[in-house]
Amino acid sequence: MASKGTATVAAAVPEVALRSGNARPMPAVGMGTAAFPLVPEATKNAVLAAIEVGYRHFDTAYMYGTEKPLGDAVAEAVRRGLVASRQELFVTSKLWCTQCHPDLVLPALRQTLQACRNLQIEYLDLYLIHWPICIKPVPPSFPAKKEDAMPFDFEGVWLAMEECHRLGLAKAIGVSNFTTKHLDKVLAAATIPPAVNQVELNPVWQQRTLRGYCAEKGIHVAAYSPLGGQNWDGTGNAVLESDVLAGIAKARGKTIAQVSLRWIYEQGVTSIAKSYNMERLKQNLEIFDWELTDEDRLKISQIPQKKVVKGTDLFSREGEFTSVDAADLNVEE
Ligand code: NDP
Repeated sequence: MASKGTATVAAAVPEVALRSGNARPMPAVGMGTAAFPLVPEATKNAVLAAIEVGYRHFDTAYMYGTEKPLGDAVAEAVRRGLVASRQELFVTSKLWCTQCHPDLVLPALRQTLQACRNLQIEYLDLYLIHWPICIKPVPPSFPAKKEDAMPFDFEGVWLAMEECHRLGLAKAIGVSNFTTKHLDKVLAAATIPPAVNQVELNPVWQQRTLRGYCAEKGIHVAAYSPLGGQNWDGTGNAVLESDVLAGIAKARGKTIAQVSLRWIYEQGVTSIAKSYNMERLKQNLEIFDWELTDEDRLKISQIPQKKVVKGTDLFSREGEFTSVDAADLNVEE
């Protein structure tokens, strides 16, 4: 791919400033790297393709196993001259539930940075608490055993996240899958408020209440599963199969994926769509030079709502969800 075309696309991706002091602004569309089964080489190649077509924002997590292939891809991109340095990129990773213990947060981040060592720089742009769920510090398994669930120490874990920020190892810190109730607890303890809450968000799970709360508190909302996810609950994909979105896409001459990403962007929310396909990667960036109509927005506002990624799935089916109240995670709060 010619780097000339690449630079044009990269320049066209708007960025959002985060409240967290010295963080690099977050590009409005990034690339997700949760893919099962994990094939490290496929992740590395997809990240390289994404950098070529203009992506500068990447989402990984300890639990995905994609920190190393992402780091390897970044190192190769710098070697090839696709980017001048790692500083051009915005990289997010996440603290897993087994690491949500005050004394394990900093070691977990150091382990992540070690896995990403090929990033060639000792920091993340954004470090998130992956879930408001605490599991005993046992080797991660999926699902976890019910007897390994523990109460979440919101204050202790958040203060440890703040220490990561103070040490310069995470330019911004935030949370993921937190409801307003969880955020209340963090904000009550925080000296440095969370910069970001990354949650499931798309036209089929619009998170209106949570977005209102976060706007009031200055917390940026980032959307995961912006295209409806990877059939995480086995019921298909309510976004890509939506008749309403299909109708709008046809009328605008766009794809359903583009309509979803454009709608998210118009809400002031950034998104991280996962694709390991060059054409779809490109397509997912082509949302900034057109807009939805008021009629489109009205139709989207009336789509019946359905959440797909449920924290309850983190635990074995027969188990109790003891770490947080399951109901808290699955209402629009
Ligand atoms: P997405 O909503 O991004 O959808 C990904 C699926 O859509 C893939 O199957 C992909 O297939 C397909 N796809 C991508 N682009 C297009 C397109 N233009 N047209 C048609 N199909 C398309 O799902 P995710 O759940 O993966 O969410 C994205 C990222 O969010 C994750 O990868 C991860 O980084 C993060 N995440 C965070 C969570 C959290 O708890 N914080 C939970 C879940 C996800 P293909 O690759 O073949 O293109």
